[in-house]
Amino acid sequence: MHVIIMGPPGAGKGTQAERMTKDFALLHISTGEIFRNAVKEGTEMGKKAKEYMDKGLLVPDEIVVGIVKERLSRPDCAGGVLLDGFPRTVEQAEALDEVMQDLNMKIDAAISVDVNEEELINRLTGRRVCRNCGATYHLKFNPPKVRNICDHCSGELYQRSDDTIDTVKERLAVYNKQTLPMIEYYQRKNLFVSVDGSQSINQVYSVISAHLQKIKEQ
Ligand code: ADP
Ligand code: AMP
Repeated sequence: MHVIIMGPPGAGKGTQAERMTKDFALLHISTGEIFRNAVKEGTEMGKKAKEYMDKGLLVPDEIVVGIVKERLSRPDCAGGVLLDGFPRTVEQAEALDEVMQDLNMKIDAAISVDVNEEELINRLTGRRVCRNCGATYHLKFNPPKVRNICDHCSGELYQRSDDTIDTVKERLAVYNKQTLPMIEYYQRKNLFVSVDGSQSINQVYSVISAHLQKIKEQ
């Protein structure tokens, strides 16, 4: 099964991805996380990506597509993948189709988690992430058991540098302009599924997992 999870920044893609990958044995590919790791490691690609990420802008398609292509070509992707944060433009969606075709894979669904802008701002500005394993928390909506410590690996929690109010507003504007048009692309292919992301984490997951179960049984 090859699934895309899409939606605006802060909708809950990463939160849902943690459960989806575990329950359905999917490999989680988050382009945002690949970039954050590259920034941490100080690679050339990380330095280039950081220039865009700090401003809330998209990293250019030629960089992102190359990374995803290389990642999808590795043998561990054969059992199924969950793409999180990619594609993010119509051009990336078209490039993904080509890569998938070359690798004899196909997308089974593009699941969009939808949340209104006011709630997205609340979610993003209160988000905390584990420095060690990348697990996501929220100060109010999904706090860790011990303040600032990851429940899973005891790693330290931090606030992403692009989760400040000004960068969040820019990222939401970029989403509306560059990513929203992609919905039509997947609607035309009959792959688009919209989920109400304003519900609780458990409620959102029960809707998503029901879809994945249906795909699995097809
Ligand atoms: P994305 O990957 O789409 O950017 P995240 O999964 O990181 O979003 O979620 C953004 C923030 O919102 C996190 O702090 C997360 O804990 C919180 N969150 C995720 N889903 C929900 C939900 N259904 N209700 C309330 N808060 C949520
Ligand atoms: P995310 O973790 O998905 O919120 O992504 C964080 C940042 O990484 C984004 O604001 C972009 O700068 C960059 N990024 C992640 N995925 C992509 C993508 N598919 N295309 C372009 N830029 C991306």
